[in-house]
Amino acid sequence: MDSNPTGIGMISGGLDSLLATIVLKNLGVRLRGVHFLNGFAPGSMKDRVYRKMSMPEIAAEKEAELSSLFGIQVDVVDLSDEFLQLLDAPRHGFGKNINPCIDCRIFLLRKAKEIMIGEKADFIYTGEVLGQRPMSQHLNAMRAVEKESGLQGILLRPLSAKLLAPTICEKEGLIDRERLLDIQGRTRRRQLELAEEFGLSSFQSPGGGCTLTDENYARKFIDLRRSQAGAVLTVEEMVLLSTGRHLRLSPETKIVVGRNQEENEYFEDKWGDSILAAAVDLPGPTVIIQGGACEEDFLKAAAVTARYGQGKDLPMVKVSVKKGEEEKILEVAPASDEDLERWRI
Ligand code: SF4
Repeated sequence: MDSNPTGIGMISGGLDSLLATIVLKNLGVRLRGVHFLNGFAPGSMKDRVYRKMSMPEIAAEKEAELSSLFGIQVDVVDLSDEFLQLLDAPRHGFGKNINPCIDCRIFLLRKAKEIMIGEKADFIYTGEVLGQRPMSQHLNAMRAVEKESGLQGILLRPLSAKLLAPTICEKEGLIDRERLLDIQGRTRRRQLELAEEFGLSSFQSPGGGCTLTDENYARKFIDLRRSQAGAVLTVEEMVLLSTGRHLRLSPETKIVVGRNQEENEYFEDKWGDSILAAAVDLPGPTVIIQGGACEEDFLKAAAVTARYGQGKDLPMVKVSVKKGEEEKILEVAPASDEDLERWRI
């Protein structure tokens, strides 16, 4: 290690990782950042549906945005495919919803370690604050994460460093421990004071969000796992869970109803191989029909399609149900509010 150590920042993009970066920059540490895409950031899910972006396009845009905001090179790495395996049976369990936070931290820190080794850097830093998050940022969880990711002594959390065991860089005097911070707890007061002190005016809200902590998303995810036990998850399916209205018509059949033009186009573009329903000659949603639908399910799906379109007040509506070249036209009465309530996931 020379007298100017190099740190690899695990950058979430939120205020805490920005503050941690500035604290270390002010100490003269050489820095490079890495931001991982796990596919569950609400922004990236929306970009895929509403802006028709691919993951490489999202990564490139994010890389430019973060590098400019943080004033260091921030590489963006897409781990969305690999990340899905964590959702099968996370060793440390789930948080309140389907967020496997401790396994997620370990997984990402291991990835950051690989980058650290590749870059011949000396340590990894994060913007974590002791006691800020119930599942992953209490002392025991932070220690477990550090140990299981193989980062003991080389994982620096500048915002809470004085409350934690010193890292090797601190012990060797390469980083002045006295100039690190002792922030803890859930209040954001100190971080906001620091933001003002550092002249920061634009930064993301804490954590930037993760769809896995959303209870509506969790309900749809659990329904999917129940209906397709053992099936391999795909990133596209995870995006679909965040899009449209989801209704379970029977144990076998689920439908997803587009809520606007962009969602309808996304269904036609990415789910065009599925069975799709749409009203004939009337504006309305595109509907994906998933599972082994029987005739009764097709009629229910057609009734929901009619209900969410401009024919909702008509006694009967013609609905096309199509798979590839095969098409049938069903004539149905729009579904009732009670039916929608009963089927909504
Ligand atoms: S909230 Fe999401 S991204 Fe954050 S640690 Fe938990 S699972 Fe990972």
